[in-house]
Amino acid sequence: MSEVPPAAGTAGTDPRTVELRERLAAVRQRISAATLAAGRSEEPQLIVVTKFHPAADVTRLAALGVTDVGENRDQEAAGKSAELAGLPVRWHFIGQLQSNKAKSVAKYAFSVQSIDRAQLSEALAKAVARQQSESGRPDLDCYIQVSLEDDAGAHRGGAAPFDAGAHRGGAAPFDVERLAESIATAAGLHLAGVMAVAPLGASPEQAFEKLAGISMDLRRLHPGAVGISAGMSQDLEAAVHFGATHLRIGSDILGSRPQVG
Ligand SMILES: *Cc1c(COP(=O)(O)O)cnc(C)c1O
Repeated sequence: MSEVPPAAGTAGTDPRTVELRERLAAVRQRISAATLAAGRSEEPQLIVVTKFHPAADVTRLAALGVTDVGENRDQEAAGKSAELAGLPVRWHFIGQLQSNKAKSVAKYAFSVQSIDRAQLSEALAKAVARQQSESGRPDLDCYIQVSLEDDAGAHRGGAAPFDAGAHRGGAAPFDVERLAESIATAAGLHLAGVMAVAPLGASPEQAFEKLAGISMDLRRLHPGAVGISAGMSQDLEAAVHFGATHLRIGSDILGSRPQVG
């Protein structure tokens, strides 16, 4: 994170910028092709997932026209967003989040896409209210992360922790309505929609079709909650096909992530 960003005027020739420009163009090309193939008139919003990559890469991406970035750890996101204060990008929080981090996240996040329990939305509501009175921040866009595992919900009430490697997080589909109500009725929170990660080893098409159905059910009760955040480097085409409004793309733009313990 202490890497020096390219000086103005040299941004176009710095080798990392050249690499990012090419990779970004290739991903934008895939998004356009998928949008066309799906017969959709509007492209989904690209969120470039910059986790584990230095703040200087966010600066480079912003210079290349990226407006939205995603992060999954509060400490890292808080540091980068503070370092890059004034850079015109929106920070989306997409990782598992402990309630005691809500206060920190409310300082920089435009959206939290990983809300999986009412305890977290309540903590965020409190933190955003405080931040709004101190700095007048806008309402926080909130996405309910839904688990698309076949056994989603089976863990509920069980004392055993999930296998963190296999379980990719999220509320069970039957919890979405209750969670939506708690977000929709909280001042400072805006119920934006749903988010999911396709389960490992399953077809992303099946997963994102299921998510589209969950989104449709949600919109019956909350017509404004139109967001569907789905699709990563490996499965963005399937996500676009099934109506994603937001894509979260990391490695295909930034390259593989440095191993961090
Ligand atoms: C890391 C991450 C992504 C990006 O994944 P890539 O495969 O690198 O594109 C998207 N969504 C979430 C929730 C992530 O944690």
